[in-house]
Amino acid sequence: MNEQQTKIRAMLADRKGILLVHYYARPEIQEIADVLGDSLALAQAAARSDARVIVFAGVHFMAQSAAMLSPEKTVLLPRLDAGCPLADMASPDAVRKMKQAQPDAVFVTYINSTAEVKAECDICCTSSNVIKIIETLPPSKKVVVLPDGNLARHAASVTGRDIAAWEGCCPIHQALTAEDVTARRREHPRALFAAHPECRPETLAVADFVGSTSAILRFAHETKATEIIIGTEKGILTQLAKENPEKTFIPASGALFCADMKKISLDDIERSLATLQPVVTVPRDVSEAAKKALDKMLALS
Ligand code: SF4
Repeated sequence: MNEQQTKIRAMLADRKGILLVHYYARPEIQEIADVLGDSLALAQAAARSDARVIVFAGVHFMAQSAAMLSPEKTVLLPRLDAGCPLADMASPDAVRKMKQAQPDAVFVTYINSTAEVKAECDICCTSSNVIKIIETLPPSKKVVVLPDGNLARHAASVTGRDIAAWEGCCPIHQALTAEDVTARRREHPRALFAAHPECRPETLAVADFVGSTSAILRFAHETKATEIIIGTEKGILTQLAKENPEKTFIPASGALFCADMKKISLDDIERSLATLQPVVTVPRDVSEAAKKALDKMLALS
């Protein structure tokens, strides 16, 4: 650890705090995480933690979820402008309208959504558990999955369920094309291709494996292949290389970079711990409804 990383760890100890870090965050922050994980693992960690302060190195919807799951704790997001363009593609008003149009449908919201949208929905999911969550719903029920249309279509193809897709997308994963994968395969003919379900259907169609970040980590560990093309945000490459030093991981495209996930720096975390700002809170009326959707997901995970 460098001097600043050591200082931050000491500040966390003084504040009785923990640092929750997403796999897409900067490598120097991943190195000092208390919990490094995907959205599901981080939500679970926030719910069970007995820390007084949670510092989130991720994006806004993740800190909101932590604040709802642990209302008695101070939840810090060192950069409030670290948002998620996908989460911003569904508004509570638009969800309410769709609910009026489909009053019998079950509304499943990806955790990559605002607290206000979660409050309108029946249950949350992450890319790790979307299939499991949908399989618990009565087969006769129509299902709406939002805000990621690609995740919804992937879930429909795996479960065979009638799923209506909201037409939102993660711009980072959406930009990855099947042609990009073909070009990487030409350069690395023995490599397998692992993709995140936020990618386009035609990109997923050429994948050897489709799964969440934690599922991709498991796949990379278990496969006999020694070269793997990675179809998700490049931050995951740090953990992949750490866990599998003998294997080669190739980004499927140079564009798999989420600027929001990289906004928070060590300086931001140090400042945030010194000032205990900025705090993320969710209004109680929103939180009560949204937490029900989160709790239902966690109970099934
Ligand atoms: S990678 Fe995509 S889904 Fe994840 S925070 Fe960035 S924009 Fe949102």
